[in-house]
Amino acid sequence: APSLLWLRHDLRLADNPALHAASDGPVLPVYVLDDAAAGRWAPGGAHRWWLHHSLAALSAALEKAGAPLLVLRGEATALIPRLAARIGAATVHAGRLHAPWARQRDAAVAKALAAEGRGLELHNSALLVEPDRIRTGQGNPYSVFTPFARAVMALGDPPPPIPAPARLRGVAHPVQGEALDALGLLPRAPDWAAAFPEYWTPGEHSATARLRAFIEDIAGGYEHARNIPGQDGTSRLSPHLHWGEISPRQAWHMAAGIGDATARQAFRRQLIWRDFAHHALWHRPDLPERPLRAAYADFPYQPDAALLRAWQRGRTGYPIVDAGMRQLWRHGWMHNRVRMITGSLLVKHLLQPWWDGAAWFWDTLVDGDLANNSMNWQWIAGCGVDAAPYFRIYNPVLQGEKFDPDGHYVRAFVPELAKLPRKWLHRPWQAPEAVLREAGVALGRTYPRPVVDHETGRARALAALKSLKEAE
Ligand code: FAD
Repeated sequence: APSLLWLRHDLRLADNPALHAASDGPVLPVYVLDDAAAGRWAPGGAHRWWLHHSLAALSAALEKAGAPLLVLRGEATALIPRLAARIGAATVHAGRLHAPWARQRDAAVAKALAAEGRGLELHNSALLVEPDRIRTGQGNPYSVFTPFARAVMALGDPPPPIPAPARLRGVAHPVQGEALDALGLLPRAPDWAAAFPEYWTPGEHSATARLRAFIEDIAGGYEHARNIPGQDGTSRLSPHLHWGEISPRQAWHMAAGIGDATARQAFRRQLIWRDFAHHALWHRPDLPERPLRAAYADFPYQPDAALLRAWQRGRTGYPIVDAGMRQLWRHGWMHNRVRMITGSLLVKHLLQPWWDGAAWFWDTLVDGDLANNSMNWQWIAGCGVDAAPYFRIYNPVLQGEKFDPDGHYVRAFVPELAKLPRKWLHRPWQAPEAVLREAGVALGRTYPRPVVDHETGRARALAALKSLKEAE
């Protein structure tokens, strides 16, 4: 009997267990854009740009393999069972999703299918290890990363990747699909994604090529280089992994090609962080909305639209922060070290709620991922699983000087400071007047003064924390 292959976050042919299971017989691959089910977690703007191009790549690959992709828009809970009935599929195969809304939707689809004697079979296509597979000695989910990582490692290498099928037997589309352009996923005027293609090529082919290039040319010094935002020192696989253009198992196995054992371990450890975030979301579906440490529910944030805006636009007056926020806007991505620095400034110096930062990232990141984004924001805000303590407050000047010592990163994204000498680049407000003039910088005019002084911001953050503890 034919199968329905419902593609979601596994937009690839290789190492796709759902595709593998469905390809025994004739198969109809379908993608459904279902914003209603996702609600406030529908893909953000930058995400949609990626999705458009990823679907275009997938569609071409499936067509070539013999089973053209059907693209639909609407409520999957109705569309999927109807489609399965139309082609007489006994089983719908899909990759398991971990977001709470998607789990609810899958349960509803499974129920509707079961009522007609059909099944929904979910496969692990997104993670090294499914969230229910490992538990602590007490039988609980993990809430600390290191023992979680140890448990994942103890399972040994994940199963080897499944090769892409050479040939698929397609099923004639029983309904008219949507043309990709008609989904309206790309920005219209203004085209804020104009610079994305300088940086990204969505799709399975380029995901594999990028990983190969990383392993061959970049990964050598990864454990150090991963902290230097001015260098191309990380894999930049995050959007590819998010959309499942490559699987973490493929990344894990290909990483065997990293000669330097320390770098190889460090890279695989990051893949485990990704699993850890999904483990956290699976067991704590309120992760995107509520602090996991209940005491933080009353943290005295001081929401302020103007401060939030200054941060979003990269106009805080702290060069490393502004460079990060502008990289995010320009390329839909930000280096991990700078995500930590910008996030910390927002929730500590500026006392803005972490969920406002998370919402901005959600809309502007091409890799915006409910598990990773939520877990990492709670980590920064000190209220999540295995989080950094709130009292550890980054100094944005020292962070800049340590991780962008030559200023390559700041100069690339904050051009109005490009001519400042290294010595003052991360602290322009302390530069002598003559130096500023020489570099063409007029503080308060061409580049802002710090929105809050570091010591003042730090003291205010610590006072907020103290008031919370006293209220406990
Ligand atoms: P590499 O260093 O090459 O790492 C390889 C892979 O490991 C990444 O692609 C990613 O899938 C995974 N990984 C690395 N670091 C982390 C981490 N801290 N948590 C979870 N997985 C990790 N990552 C997202 O994919 N989506 C997000 O929405 C997201 N939001 C974040 C928000 C904040 C405030 C912070 C501090 C981090 C966030 N991260 C997020 C994690 C991390 O910054 C990115 O995964 C990383 O920068 C991606 O770059 P890369 O692919 O070059 O990483």
